[in-house]
Amino acid sequence: ADSVTADMIDEISNKHFPLCMKNLHETLRKKHHLKHYGRLQYGLFLKVIGLSIEEAMIFWRKGFSGITDDKFNKEYKYNIRHSYGLEGKRTNYSAFSCQYIFTNHQPGVDDTHGCPYRHFSPENLESALVTHYGNQGVTPSVLPEIIQQVRSGHYHVACTRVFEISHGLKSGEGVGDGVSVTHPNEYAARSRELER
Ligand code: SF4
Repeated sequence: ADSVTADMIDEISNKHFPLCMKNLHETLRKKHHLKHYGRLQYGLFLKVIGLSIEEAMIFWRKGFSGITDDKFNKEYKYNIRHSYGLEGKRTNYSAFSCQYIFTNHQPGVDDTHGCPYRHFSPENLESALVTHYGNQGVTPSVLPEIIQQVRSGHYHVACTRVFEISHGLKSGEGVGDGVSVTHPNEYAARSRELER
């Protein structure tokens, strides 16, 4: 993977992230905090995007701006290092796939992890889509077909349609060769490729 620095994440999120990760990023920027599974889902995704352990420390330390260095070091540093395989069993964990996100760690009311297509109410999903992708063509006129896919339980198809629309692709092109989104990192990697 390319290397990505902490100060590049705002822009890359804006241009290239799927809705699940934009939602986590926005929450981090607004609340200066993310709960456990949010940190895990987003942190592993960022690792695979190419954020090194050094840059991850900068990203999360700056992101959690309301706490002291002492609290950060005590409560968060270990888990960040752990997800990079530098503590405990030293497993280099892979990032969560869509299927994993759909079916594990069901988010509670205060949580922002999960898949918005799967876990948001239709009203909240519509508003999040227009907020995050409205200037890339995801306008109210295309929402009914996306919501229809969601109601049929085809969350990854809805996400794929958003990818197509926001990248000016035809329906059915998917993230390449007609393939649907199955992993948030695949979404982001393909989006970055299309920009080059
Ligand atoms: Fe993220 Fe996958 Fe849901 Fe898209 S379908 S928002 S990539 S979890």
